[in-house]
Amino acid sequence: MCEPDTRLISGLCFPICSRFEELYASIMFCSEIYAESRPELFSGTRTHSSDRTMDLGLAEDHFSRPGSFVASDIEQLKRAIEECKKLILELPEHSERQKDTVVKLIHLRLKLQELKDPEEDEPNLRTLLEHRFSKEKSKSVKQTCDKCSTIIWGLIQTWYTCTGCYYRCHSKCMNLIIKPCVRSKVSHQSAYELSICPEIGLDRQDYRCAECRTPISLRGVPSEARQCDYTGQYYCSTCHWNDTAIVPARVIHNWEFEPRKVCRSSMRYLALMMSRPVLRLKEINPLLFNFVEELVEIRKLRQDILLMKPYFITCKEAMEARLLLQLQDRQHFVENDDMYSLQDLIDISSGRLSCSLTEIHTTFAKHIKLDCDRCQAKGFVCELCKEGDILFPFDSHTSVCYDCSAVFHRDCYYDNSTTCPRCARMTDRKQDDESDVKDA
Ligand SMILES: [Zn+2]
Ligand SMILES: [Zn+2]
Ligand SMILES: [Zn+2]
Ligand SMILES: [Zn+2]
Ligand SMILES: [Zn+2]
Ligand SMILES: [Zn+2]
Repeated sequence: MCEPDTRLISGLCFPICSRFEELYASIMFCSEIYAESRPELFSGTRTHSSDRTMDLGLAEDHFSRPGSFVASDIEQLKRAIEECKKLILELPEHSERQKDTVVKLIHLRLKLQELKDPEEDEPNLRTLLEHRFSKEKSKSVKQTCDKCSTIIWGLIQTWYTCTGCYYRCHSKCMNLIIKPCVRSKVSHQSAYELSICPEIGLDRQDYRCAECRTPISLRGVPSEARQCDYTGQYYCSTCHWNDTAIVPARVIHNWEFEPRKVCRSSMRYLALMMSRPVLRLKEINPLLFNFVEELVEIRKLRQDILLMKPYFITCKEAMEARLLLQLQDRQHFVENDDMYSLQDLIDISSGRLSCSLTEIHTTFAKHIKLDCDRCQAKGFVCELCKEGDILFPFDSHTSVCYDCSAVFHRDCYYDNSTTCPRCARMTDRKQDDESDVKDA
């Protein structure tokens, strides 16, 4: 079926009423039923078949005649539908009676749909090519089927959405699906393609769609070839809807966030991967830190947060206040300081991450240094100068000993050419203990 077309609707002069969408759906459905009974009339394009409805006499207000039918049980309805179909074929083409019968058929079909318990013939869950399809309850008519690219009329058609990759399709289209669920790709292939648009050329693709193998060419004959900026490959218009997405390779290498055209399955894959922390920036492109200042700022904030973490996991109050959960949607920030998700990078470039992370950093520091006695007690006195305020490892003017985690003023630490006094003390104590053991 074609896209909803207001011109078509107004051409039909329907009375504006609350059942407008329902009526429209019925008309579209009607053309399908009619096509079913008279296939020879509908050999042309889909648009043609819906234009056809204009000739079916539907401009008249047949829908406001309630109770034209009394058929009440399913068997009776089914029989009536068959008789209606037969009658349509027998009646003279374009006659008023034929048009009326088509409308009757719509009523019967809708009535049957209403009466049938949908649970009865359509299971709620279906698994197919690793998709986990769940039956939709929504009657919204604005969805498009990912298989046949036509509208899903939620009111009269059963449809499913994959709970993994959000692929949605008509129940009738389900057995035609050839695309496996990209959710499984996300779990088997959790690393991005990091070459920018790695094209191999249409010839190497055999002039066929990289996904469904439909013949394609750049001249549009027999069908248009569309390139996916993520895979670099070419696709047919059924597999590539000119959706756009931010491409990780362009972000990593060029710090470029312009959305690019991608095929359907890349779009889904990229959406599912969006918040997964799979990019180890300092390995893929360490140079990025040299010219993207915001990255340096974020790295410092993340390192500080990791230094604050030991305070929180040993502080009852902090645990009760669920402080660390403030990073809930970026759990990897509590685990390491070098893995990034594409969403992190997008938010860094827009400035959003810097704002929210600075705020969290302030809240955390306030708990440790001001609000909580228990955490405050775990501060350090600089053992090199033995002067000044209590120090914390995440304070900006401090240095931390790698071996014993003691904290010093940065200036004191750099001036100090000998070893860390705390480490030295611990070595002494160890030697004493060992000699004690020997003496004993
Ligand atoms: Zn479909
Ligand atoms: Zn799926
Ligand atoms: Zn294709
Ligand atoms: Zn505390
Ligand atoms: Zn000092
Ligand atoms: Zn030390």
